[in-house]
Amino acid sequence: MSELLILNGHVVDPASGVDGLRDVLVRAGRIAAVEMPGALAGVANTLPKELQLDAAGCVVAPGLIDIHVHLREPGQTHKETIATGTAAAAAGGFTCVVAMPNTTPVNDSVAELEWMLARERGAVVKLLAMPAATFGSLGEEITDFHQLVRAGAVGFTDDGKPVLEDGVMRAALTAAAELGVPVSQHAEDTRLTGGCSMNAGLVAFRLGLRGMPVEAEARIVERDLRLLGEIERVDRVRPHLHVQHVSTARALDAIRRAKAEGLHVTCEAAPHHFTLTDEAIGDYNTNAKMNPPLRAEADRAALVAALLDGTVDCIATDHAPHASHEKEVEFERAPNGITGLETALGLALRVLHREHGMPLARVIALMSEHPARVIKLRERGTLRVGSYADVVVFDAGVEWNYAASASRSKSRNTPFDGAAMLGRVRATVCAGRVVFRA
Ligand SMILES: [Zn+2]
Repeated sequence: MSELLILNGHVVDPASGVDGLRDVLVRAGRIAAVEMPGALAGVANTLPKELQLDAAGCVVAPGLIDIHVHLREPGQTHKETIATGTAAAAAGGFTCVVAMPNTTPVNDSVAELEWMLARERGAVVKLLAMPAATFGSLGEEITDFHQLVRAGAVGFTDDGKPVLEDGVMRAALTAAAELGVPVSQHAEDTRLTGGCSMNAGLVAFRLGLRGMPVEAEARIVERDLRLLGEIERVDRVRPHLHVQHVSTARALDAIRRAKAEGLHVTCEAAPHHFTLTDEAIGDYNTNAKMNPPLRAEADRAALVAALLDGTVDCIATDHAPHASHEKEVEFERAPNGITGLETALGLALRVLHREHGMPLARVIALMSEHPARVIKLRERGTLRVGSYADVVVFDAGVEWNYAASASRSKSRNTPFDGAAMLGRVRATVCAGRVVFRA
């Protein structure tokens, strides 16, 4: 029976309330014990040194969970593969990632889903997937939610595109509610964003680019929240809406109100949205182009406030790799998206913990316990005895600079090349196996 002992670390497990020096024993892929220092000395004496991990001076936390990644396989493996994307995840401290369906072909069938999740793809961390909400993500006809959930789907989304039609979104929310999974919405009213490549505002004006108004996001969020209320009243089921990568004050206000009214809505924030503003585009830097776009300072500040007050449920990266030659084109023609798995923890600790005083345990909860809750994942996102031994060991005090050239991802499209990070991952353990070590 395989064992691993993680010694001398400061365990922070928000779900069980542990925050102090503990030793962690892993056995057969599960957490077997979390004990005061010294209590596992008997085990330590008999266990070979290579099965002991010294975490002195480090935080030992539940492995991070990212419910929004693009791994590009099948179909775009020059950008990323499931193997390289999950290797980048492990390097960033993630032990579980949820793949979006906008692959080629679109993941909208049981066959595609099973192919993606198969062991042969070589994922080094736990891989889950949200298949498309509609066939081909065309927004017309919902996929077979029932069969897909049986095959492992943890939610449905047409990410990259919104589910625009009221009737289709209503059908998706209702079908998902009956199966107890969320519909994850990319909130963008594309009728307002045609030809736009960044946020509407002063920077867009200076650069001469057409900008997406904040209303494009808010209008879809507000429409979806109205549908949630209607479905609950009329159909007597309780649908769960998850709003992806929220980026505007107006959408956050709508979500805050809906939560106060008791609707089942959750949302995620991406590190780039709480770290940067549209000023980062500078002179047409395509590595600062993503969708939703970087917003103005007022929206960024509102997102930080919503992370602090609990309106935002979790942090998700929207890791979206693209090859250099695809990004090295005119700004308006460049694809949307940036890599994010290796910079998420360093940015969250720098911006939320250090600059805004968010307690370390809350940062960890936003990246482990809470995303697990959004997709109703059991036995992950916590270090409780009996859970999967998904663990991240990081030095919370280390300041360092991210180097895109050292990335495990196949792609280098990040606005954070050379940027200051706080906290460095020393080891990532997934189901008891060390999958990354620095
Ligand atoms: Zn999206």
